[in-house]
Amino acid sequence: MKVVLQNLTKIFPSRNKKSSEEVVAVNNFNYEIPDGKLIGLLGPSGCGKSTTLYMISGLQKPSSGKIFFGDDDVTELSTENRGVGLVFQNYALYPHMTVKQNILFPLQNLKKEDRLSKDEMLKRAYNAAKLVQIDNLMDRKPSELSGGQQQRVAIARALVKMPRVLLLDEPLSNLDARLRLQTREEIRRIQRETQITTVFVTHDQEEAMSISDYIVVMKLGVVQQIGEPQEVYDNPCNLFVAKFLGTPPINVFNGSIKGGKLFIGEDAVMDVAGVADQNVIVGIRPEGFILDENGPLHCNLRNLEVMGRDVSIVSDNAASVNPIIRSIINADNKIDPSKKCVRFSIKPHKIFVFNQETEERIQVEVK
Ligand code: ADP
Ligand code: MG
Repeated sequence: MKVVLQNLTKIFPSRNKKSSEEVVAVNNFNYEIPDGKLIGLLGPSGCGKSTTLYMISGLQKPSSGKIFFGDDDVTELSTENRGVGLVFQNYALYPHMTVKQNILFPLQNLKKEDRLSKDEMLKRAYNAAKLVQIDNLMDRKPSELSGGQQQRVAIARALVKMPRVLLLDEPLSNLDARLRLQTREEIRRIQRETQITTVFVTHDQEEAMSISDYIVVMKLGVVQQIGEPQEVYDNPCNLFVAKFLGTPPINVFNGSIKGGKLFIGEDAVMDVAGVADQNVIVGIRPEGFILDENGPLHCNLRNLEVMGRDVSIVSDNAASVNPIIRSIINADNKIDPSKKCVRFSIKPHKIFVFNQETEERIQVEVK
């Protein structure tokens, strides 16, 4: 089922009674979510992810715009009639019910015409439980389960009605690191098996990158960029997106373009064509540095962090926006830690140039 978001906007009245300033939580969101795909809705806290999800689910009514499931306009439909499965961060299981009762619950509340036989309900509940691998825990109460198991029950409960669309709001945030990894792979597997169009909300870029077919990066209610994770990482449209994706984060410098050369401080790091002279912001991914005795970029070596396969070189430079520059180099490179200066050349596809005022990407032709 494709899901179409058309000029979707949500404006909240001010929470503060004295001020009349309203909050534009979601601002003119347009996207056609392809059928059967997993979409990662990504951005910092407060950027409008949950509000978008709640509008898709019907829990919140858009201020303007429309939502279609396939060709059906569902904008005015209630949550119960949309056929969505919802999973939240805090599981929201009924504590006094067993796992089985929790999963059965949505089926027992179906309207008359949709009612299933008891056998059919049980069959569906067990199928959903099997899918998330908790079918051996059906008689336990939520308090007798780990966080990861509880979240699986919540996912089974969302799947049991065979939803047209699955909506997950930060479903892994309450799990510890190891369970988070494991459960996100599970969600990916379940989504592939069921082929249910899924929207997965997270503020964690690594999580979104690792499981999504497409990511949508949001900032202050506005969609910044939509694309395959690797494509957005390799080709960010602005400084915000470049900074939001990647660990360690991208290194940011004040730079300038003069006479066909890109400068960081006094160092001409690259020949660029087709761009007028101007001050710019330069971003270099940590993996974009090459140790090079004759390299154009001079940095002050601070220390080395050995990480096994790689070495992280920590240095600084007067033009760097951040106090330190972190570059990731293959551990086969031998670096003398007593050296004061370290020199780099830069991989052309790992360096991005942004307009100093708008922070939009400037496409430069690297020579
Ligand atoms: P996210 O899920 O990305 O953290 P939200 O969608 O929850 O962000 O919130 C987006 C913006 O809308 C925030 O500024 C938030 O304070 C505001 N907001 C969310 N819900 C309400 C509400 N019920 N009333 C007023 N403002 C709200
Ligand atoms: Mg949220």
